[in-house]
Amino acid sequence: MTNETVPKVKADIVYEEEHPVLYDVDGQIAYLTLNRVKYHNSQNAQMLYALDDAFFKATGDDNVKVIVLRANGKHFSAGHDIGTPGRDFHQGRDDRRSMNYNHDNKPGAEKAYVREQEVYLEFCRRWRAVPKPTIAQVHKGCIAGGLMLAWVCDLIVASDDAFFQDPVVQMGFPGVEYFAHPFELNVRQAKEFLLLGERWSAERVLAAGMINKVVPRAELESAVKAWAEKIATQPRLAMALTKQACNQIEDLQGKRSGMDMVYGYHHFAHANNTIVKGDYIAGFDGKKMSKSNKAKES
Ligand code: ZN
Repeated sequence: MTNETVPKVKADIVYEEEHPVLYDVDGQIAYLTLNRVKYHNSQNAQMLYALDDAFFKATGDDNVKVIVLRANGKHFSAGHDIGTPGRDFHQGRDDRRSMNYNHDNKPGAEKAYVREQEVYLEFCRRWRAVPKPTIAQVHKGCIAGGLMLAWVCDLIVASDDAFFQDPVVQMGFPGVEYFAHPFELNVRQAKEFLLLGERWSAERVLAAGMINKVVPRAELESAVKAWAEKIATQPRLAMALTKQACNQIEDLQGKRSGMDMVYGYHHFAHANNTIVKGDYIAGFDGKKMSKSNKAKES
């Protein structure tokens, strides 16, 4: 693409971080680091487009064999941005990545349907399809939209202080937009995970098969690096084909088509929230969500 365009920024959006995703290469490993530290890496479009850029860059760099997705700050990711000054839900983009039109000037349920298709569903699918092995390096909170970022990676390594949670049923939704729950857990576990909405410890999700490895927090970085260096010795094409093989089999088992169907349910829920509650996310913001989540644990 030669015609670079700068996205329109509405006056009421305040981006606190110029670089919401950091990009570093160490040997044959690219590190993509979420960097909205002030808001626990809650995901606005600014951060997600930056992350897409970073995945694209790492994919195109022939020296990079393995990609690590990690996070600065207290938590891996608190989920989608539902209430920071940098929340840019209402902003269209001229640098859209999927074959879709802008959402910002669209009425009714169309607005969220179009936006979430691009920045949540299709972005996650793009990142899952990156032809190089990806490792999520997860510490502390990996909540709701945070799960989506970890789940699209091939391997997940977590520190022993990590916890995983999808608490969005209380907002009216059948889980987050990237509905991989019954693939990441077995169906009965997925139902418990969603219906109770509780935090699951790193040890518990390891036992359930959602992640690959749990290590003490102090060893998280070195454990991920050791795996990445080992994987980097494998031939590039064989790794790409291995990923493709596993992903295709999952899709043949219904992952992709099931997710498309549930995306419709998810947006029926957004529309119902608007009709019944007057707000597409049922009046929740970051503070209300965090308070409600804490109450669940007591
Ligand atoms: Zn949604």
